[in-house]
Amino acid sequence: MTPLLEVAGLAKHYPVKQGVIRQREVGTVRAVDGVSFSVMRGETLALVGESGCGKSTTARLALRLIEPSAGSIRFDGQDVTKVTGGAMRALRRRMQIVFQDPYASLNPRLTVGDAIAEPMVVHGIGNDRSRQDRVQELLELVGLRPFHATRYPHEFSGGQRQRIGIARALAVEPDLVVCDEPVSALDVSIQAQVVNLMKDLQARLGLSYLFIAHDLAVVKHMADRVAVMYLGAIMEMGSKAELFANPRHPYTRALLAAIPHPDPSRRGRVTPLGGDVPSPMAVPAGCRFHTRCPFAQARCREEVPLLREVAPGQQAACHFSESLPDAGLDYSGGLT
Ligand code: SF4
Ligand code: MG
Repeated sequence: MTPLLEVAGLAKHYPVKQGVIRQREVGTVRAVDGVSFSVMRGETLALVGESGCGKSTTARLALRLIEPSAGSIRFDGQDVTKVTGGAMRALRRRMQIVFQDPYASLNPRLTVGDAIAEPMVVHGIGNDRSRQDRVQELLELVGLRPFHATRYPHEFSGGQRQRIGIARALAVEPDLVVCDEPVSALDVSIQAQVVNLMKDLQARLGLSYLFIAHDLAVVKHMADRVAVMYLGAIMEMGSKAELFANPRHPYTRALLAAIPHPDPSRRGRVTPLGGDVPSPMAVPAGCRFHTRCPFAQARCREEVPLLREVAPGQQAACHFSESLPDAGLDYSGGLT
């Protein structure tokens, strides 16, 4: 099976300049620093990491909303970095995004119906009449009512607005939906409803999701595979079941241990992470995680650990992945 989306060596580096009249470069922000992954058809790949780790930038690069400094992006076999004009527009239709903040992403002056129809107008799909019919269908698809089309965004709750955002993304029948923390701004009680809706839509429409989240708790109901990012790079990637039952990177262990387990005896023995995430302008040499890693050794400060297969279907970027002490972590039972 060929992947729907495949990125390799993806990077985004920004020069940092100082001075008003004569600007000089004083450094480089390595926001995304060589990321490779693929998303298969009908699959959800979750991209997880603390805020500022480069996951949103990675998503925007994959959609080519911003231009990469390096790397390749293939969508359905086509090289996205080389496509221009009409062909790029056609690709754009097939890759949609749902944003984190349903308040900020909807124009307050457009009715909900017009907001949902807008992507169809942009892509020249249908006419007024057919778009109105489609809006009605989409509203029902996301659990809203046809009469909601004439209302304005401020008349809806956060969860309903996110449903509107999803309807808008689905209006042009995409194959891939990038979900940038779609439930992070919602109450916990509403999060599950939106996640369930997204899973249901995926099954009905055969969608692929690149699902971004800052903690592993949200993705345990959503993901097929998980990639854990730290400071612009992937630390561990594998099937959700394997990664939750048997995390093989110290950073993944720390993220998992931060989730309250229904059975406290299975939360394991993991020291919480000390220190702060270093600045992406000063990525540590060797293993970028070594300044916070409880297992760091001399080699870690010098040699970059490559992301490599450490178990069937599971990759980790750690020199000592195979010899880490048993953490006693097991989140597999907590999975649904
Ligand atoms: Fe820790 Fe070294 Fe592994 Fe990096 S390579 S995660 S510093 S043990
Ligand atoms: Mg973000």
